[in-house]
Amino acid sequence: MTTSRLSRAVATGVLLTILAGCGGPTAGTTSPPSAGASQPVAPPSTAPITESVTTPPPTEAAALAALPAKLRSRVPRFAPPPAPAKVTLPKGDKAPNFTRIPTTEKIAFITIDDGWEKNPLALQLFQAANVPVTLFLEVDAVKSDPGYFIPMQAAGVTIQNHTISHPTMTRLSYEGQKRQICGGADRLAKLFGPRPTLFRPPGGAFNGTTLRAAKACGMKASFTWTQTTDHGIVFFQGPTRVVQPGDIILMHFRPRFVDDFLAVLNAIDKAGLTPARLEDYIP
Ligand SMILES: [Zn+2]
Repeated sequence: MTTSRLSRAVATGVLLTILAGCGGPTAGTTSPPSAGASQPVAPPSTAPITESVTTPPPTEAAALAALPAKLRSRVPRFAPPPAPAKVTLPKGDKAPNFTRIPTTEKIAFITIDDGWEKNPLALQLFQAANVPVTLFLEVDAVKSDPGYFIPMQAAGVTIQNHTISHPTMTRLSYEGQKRQICGGADRLAKLFGPRPTLFRPPGGAFNGTTLRAAKACGMKASFTWTQTTDHGIVFFQGPTRVVQPGDIILMHFRPRFVDDFLAVLNAIDKAGLTPARLEDYIP
């Protein structure tokens, strides 16, 4: 790689880090500029989602039929994913970090971070899309309203660890990182049931200490990403403008949640891939 290509790549990395930046409660509330390919979001239903875990989720067809008509046609239908082949995890005192899952199968992974913005259509969209989705939740973003996320678990959503308060991990000591990772896993377990075993470092910033702390806290692996999504647009990190097998796509619970989720689904569909469950690939 030439110096100029390298600096472009570095600059792109910086830009993507900014685009990917997970923020606090106010970070996602600015009104995004109108984005080219996306369409306006239908106003959210006035009725809050009040379904409890004891209510059986609607079938995929019923959930799709219940969506506003202008959204219904934007939800692609996917073939089921192939039988998963688990990766091999290295031995040692560090959890590995994956940017993508090494595979040639026609699959990609949907991950959604933080949890600040609680769009009332999210559950319905998950039910209608009926695809595996992994949430990396920040305790501080979800603790006031865990009931928003609980019914999602019956709709194919799994909940994993994104720390308690979203610090930049590389600025913390080993003990400080452990408090965030172990504490995040313990508190998410209290809120949602199974204790997380997968970890996403806030902002994608990690070092060897992070991976040791993650392993010590029972995390099998850490995950960064290959694409980010915001304002209804999927941003590609590499030169290929198509989702590749094994790619891990990042989005957030942000004001344009509906457009972002539909953009992710359609990018996967356009690539001829199908969403698979990240947990199924980790032994
Ligand atoms: Zn985040």
